[in-house]
Amino acid sequence: MDLLDIKELRATLREDGKEILKGVNLKVRAGELHAIMGPNGSGKSTLANVVMGNPKYEITSGKIRFKNKTINDLSVDQRARLGIFMSFQYPQEISGIRLRSFLMSASHNLKNDESILKKSRELEKLADEIGIGREFIDRYLNLGFSGGEKKKTEIMQMHFLKPVLAILDEIDSGLDVDAIRSIAASIKSFKSPENGVILITHYERLLEYIEPDYVHIYVDGSIVMTGGPELARDIEERGYERDWKAFREA
Ligand code: ADP
Ligand code: MG
Ligand code: MG
Repeated sequence: MDLLDIKELRATLREDGKEILKGVNLKVRAGELHAIMGPNGSGKSTLANVVMGNPKYEITSGKIRFKNKTINDLSVDQRARLGIFMSFQYPQEISGIRLRSFLMSASHNLKNDESILKKSRELEKLADEIGIGREFIDRYLNLGFSGGEKKKTEIMQMHFLKPVLAILDEIDSGLDVDAIRSIAASIKSFKSPENGVILITHYERLLEYIEPDYVHIYVDGSIVMTGGPELARDIEERGYERDWKAFREA
């Protein structure tokens, strides 16, 4: 089944009208894991934000379809209810809201009506599996967390909320190799025939632990090339500096 189907998507930053997405095409079916790699500033996070419905950006043309329904005009909340999840490249620190209550209300909002006690236990089990101390569950969201702890918390949210489509924006950035391995294992255990994952990453390293089904090279607001894991290794060796425009036109 098609989960996500993006067609010729163009979007601008509302604030200044600058076009950032310049004709993105991407299809993600259930059971697939897609990696999107690209240089800094190419618009990867913007793509994730536009799919999630961040109002800072305006879609100027093209379509985002999710499970055969056009979602261009849905709010972030409505998209989350359909089962779309996004982890942030830079998770915000939110004083006054504890991770536990944040996740409980998010889960409630998504109409998961399991008992609070059961969900609390599940959170504790997840913390153990993901390798962050249970005490983090009762700390303020991301406040004073290390980079690695923030990223692990994002992964924990994903497991807890069980989205149909998870978009993970540089979940590996700033992590040491052990943390990358642990996050990779956690993403693999999340992956199932029913859901889809989009991994946005600069580096190939995470992809050594998670074989993606597809690797897309994303440069200057659009996907310029699609391949398998070998494409990621090629980028790692030779970098992004090449004539992508020629590829696109070929
Ligand atoms: P990437 O994730 O590939 O590094 P981004 O999507 O973060 O790229 O950014 C793409 C371009 O759009 C950059 O030039 C960035 O500065 C600009 N941009 C994106 N979002 C914003 C924003 N909210 N405010 C200002 N500039 C932005
Ligand atoms: Mg960046
Ligand atoms: Mg980014």
